[in-house]
Amino acid sequence: MPDFKQIIFSTQPNGIARIILNRPEARNAQDANMLYEINDAMDIAANDDQIKVIVVSANGPHFSAGHDLAEADPIGSLKEHKSVTSFGGLDGEGIEPMFGREQEIYYGFCERWRNIPKPTMVAVHGKVIAGGLMLVWPFDIVIASEDTTFQDNTVAMGICGAEFFNHPYELGVRKAKEMLFTSDFVSAEDAHRLGAVNHVVPRDELEDFTLNMAAKIAEKRLFSLKLTKMAVNAAQDNAGRNATNQQAFALHHLLHTNFALISGAPLAPEFIENFAKKKSG
Ligand code: ZN
Repeated sequence: MPDFKQIIFSTQPNGIARIILNRPEARNAQDANMLYEINDAMDIAANDDQIKVIVVSANGPHFSAGHDLAEADPIGSLKEHKSVTSFGGLDGEGIEPMFGREQEIYYGFCERWRNIPKPTMVAVHGKVIAGGLMLVWPFDIVIASEDTTFQDNTVAMGICGAEFFNHPYELGVRKAKEMLFTSDFVSAEDAHRLGAVNHVVPRDELEDFTLNMAAKIAEKRLFSLKLTKMAVNAAQDNAGRNATNQQAFALHHLLHTNFALISGAPLAPEFIENFAKKKSG
């Protein structure tokens, strides 16, 4: 078992594996190490035939503040890990290292997690911001506490949506556009009404509610669960979900490249200025 530092991983005799984000001091902001830890834990749970369902949740006041924009060496930190996509290019020129990084730990991980061949659940609370959605959209069942709010503020950063672009499939195209154009928060209630969340429960019932449903799922045959998941995922993929994601990821990198040409940094200059001010103040 790897020595996890930013997550807590455990398995239960009733067939449930739990992954708990455990970086509350950083509001569970995801750096490369945390994402590799989640990916490693997903692999362990996926390869264990005793595990029928994987449950992700988070410690601290918020589920996740998104990607850790303050990560010291975003490219170098990837080289400490074995690549799962083998996309490479980390020593390349121009946008190549950044494209390789996001292809691996954002888009690549999210597609892998979505296609893990057994049911996955996520229990969210507090704020779920931008990259935080990448720990929600790829999972099969989403349980939210009443205080949960979802935000993708990447348009405020100058970009056209987070790297895993499932928004239209989660919220419908109207709400997806409103969420992105305004950078406003979407409430748990709205997300539930639109089908992006299975159930909304009081905060103090979130864990029990989620684990009770996981236990019910874990009573079923694993092979049947696997093929059921494949069948439902195929409905989205045959309707073009995968192609939509690939196109959105390319457009996302067009904007990263645009800002790199303008200012040498991959986000809108006004966003970077505000971010630096907030950090120093
Ligand atoms: Zn990006």
